[in-house]
Amino acid sequence: MNAPVTNTVLTVPEPRKVAFAKRPYPRVKPGSVLVKTEIAALCVDDRMYTDHVHEWFDHPLHCVGHEGVGTVVEAPESQVFRPGDKVLLSHGAYCGRCFACRNGLSQAHCASLSGGERAGTSTTVPEFFVDGLAPVERKNDSQSGWAAMAEYRLADEGICTLLPDDLDFRYAIAAECSIGMAYCAQEFMEVKAGDYLLLVGSGQRQFSLSHPIVGLFRGARVIAAAPDDFQAEKVRKIGEARGGTPDLHIVDMRDPNWTQQVLDLTDGVGPDKIADFTSDRETLNTEIDLVRHDGVLYIQENLRNKHRELRIDPYAGIAEKNLKIMGTIDSRRIDRPGIIRMLRNKEVQRMWDVVVTHEFPMWEAEQAFQISATQQCGKILLYPHGLPGQEGEQAYG
Ligand SMILES: [Zn+2]
Ligand SMILES: [Zn+2]
Repeated sequence: MNAPVTNTVLTVPEPRKVAFAKRPYPRVKPGSVLVKTEIAALCVDDRMYTDHVHEWFDHPLHCVGHEGVGTVVEAPESQVFRPGDKVLLSHGAYCGRCFACRNGLSQAHCASLSGGERAGTSTTVPEFFVDGLAPVERKNDSQSGWAAMAEYRLADEGICTLLPDDLDFRYAIAAECSIGMAYCAQEFMEVKAGDYLLLVGSGQRQFSLSHPIVGLFRGARVIAAAPDDFQAEKVRKIGEARGGTPDLHIVDMRDPNWTQQVLDLTDGVGPDKIADFTSDRETLNTEIDLVRHDGVLYIQENLRNKHRELRIDPYAGIAEKNLKIMGTIDSRRIDRPGIIRMLRNKEVQRMWDVVVTHEFPMWEAEQAFQISATQQCGKILLYPHGLPGQEGEQAYG
């Protein structure tokens, strides 16, 4: 079969408008891999749709999406990947030389993204785009697009992870900014069987709905403090999907007595570990009061909160309590083998089925962004080549 001539990529040329651009089919050189994207997931990409901002990117010419899984089409001179391999693509870059790359940390921290020794931050300007081209496009002399929401994607070999044949793409996609990031977070928190783990708020639901799954998988007593009916109902269904979870508890944050209910569930001492999804000042202070001494407060990003703040008396809030406060973005390279093993677990897969609320062929992405912006959804998946059974029916306008 001849290679296609073009690569259809999703763009948002102006707020509340999705357009599909035809780019040249990617050219790939050694060190990079060309992947046919089977599934791309919506992250906070709906902010691109509503506000024209997305993490590093705020330029309408740039493509959209960073979460993807797919099939290797070409991997020139690679010792690892072969055409036909199933791969997970993680966002960020891989230079192999910086601290993050040498230590198996997050590829979002690869220093090549900021052109220096130190990792950039997600709020820096997109300086790594030159003439609208991403580093991986320049490296490959290819103006083909680089992002997840496209038929084909170029990636540094180092951001790809080989997937086992028995893991469906639909479960593998959870390895990125949902179950994968929750796994990394709970590795940092050292959540173990028997721990009292409190999850607070809804925030970015891809995280607040993934943490119960990971917490239950690890054998913790999971207490979800839910701020709305959607969250409470989804968490309840996650427990149901697992097939009986006596140690999953849901507390309604609208009840002024909710913190007392948490104390009742934690022997009056407070949770061992708390994961916060709100980034809200008042809620964070409530959590610092609630967590037991020598405990852990973990902060999962909430980009939906534009007034993120943590204000604290370092003595009374941290030192006097022997408290650890921590956070992460992304997952680390060293976490991926564990994440992939977890995603092969049938209980985890049943729970993930609850988190995935919508699936669309990519040509219906406008609807996907609209639903995502309502935040009344779990994870939304896009299929650039059509839903299973729709292959060959591409309907890009
Ligand atoms: Zn690097
Ligand atoms: Zn993401």
